[in-house]
Amino acid sequence: MEIGGGKIDVVIEGDNADFPEALAMNWITTAARAVTSYYGTFPVSHVVIHLHPVAGDEIEGGRTFGTNDGGRISVEVGRATTAAHFQRDWLMTHEMVHLSIPGVADEHHWIEEGIATYVEPIARAEIGNLRPEQVWNDVARDMPQGLPQAGDRGLDFTATWGRTYWGGALFCLLADVEIRQRTGNRKGLQDALRGILAAGGNISEDWDFERVIRTGDRATGVPVLHELYEKMRAAPSPVALDDLWKRLGLERSGRSVVLHDDAPLAAIRRVIVPGE
Ligand SMILES: [Zn+2]
Repeated sequence: MEIGGGKIDVVIEGDNADFPEALAMNWITTAARAVTSYYGTFPVSHVVIHLHPVAGDEIEGGRTFGTNDGGRISVEVGRATTAAHFQRDWLMTHEMVHLSIPGVADEHHWIEEGIATYVEPIARAEIGNLRPEQVWNDVARDMPQGLPQAGDRGLDFTATWGRTYWGGALFCLLADVEIRQRTGNRKGLQDALRGILAAGGNISEDWDFERVIRTGDRATGVPVLHELYEKMRAAPSPVALDDLWKRLGLERSGRSVVLHDDAPLAAIRRVIVPGE
């Protein structure tokens, strides 16, 4: 199929008897629409998606690699996966976001997982696949896992699961809010990431980390990525998340959030996750 200027080939590996093919194709289409919405284009000209049918009803084991002309995504899909499960799945969108970032050296792996973790729900909200309340609820619930723990030596030197995925996502959220504050809410992390992609920085390339940062900052006109990286790369740099949620106007309430429009950063919140 072709979406957002990208060609998507889907390969069902092995025995595809009883495989929910129509549901899986619809799921891939939805994820491709989400990343195309966020980036304004599909991140690579060509991706091959390998689906591995497995027993059960889970979607797991997602991996994404760069190739000469784009990327390759590999995912295990349970033969009994339901339509409802495909509908709420995040993994395919997460893997497709990986297509939008150049490969970087191992110590910066947190930026790859951080961007995929942060952008995935926002991209899905952009196409109406997730409500903003749900996105912010999950962000406020999960982001504490990205805070530095005892002995933390900064993002480049602490390769734990929490710091890689959620520490990276925290970097993205802080960058997004700061870019928007400094540009009068005219630019955001989305502009930085689109700028990196427009400069050819997708997964088929390996880039020096400084080039990623510099290219993103050039697209927004403010050196927020550079400054935040200097602050977080080699020091724990704790963040008062409860204060940030308050300024964004998020009040957690059971399994959802109440969004307040009189909060100082409410206008920024509404632009980061559209659909309120
Ligand atoms: Zn990932």
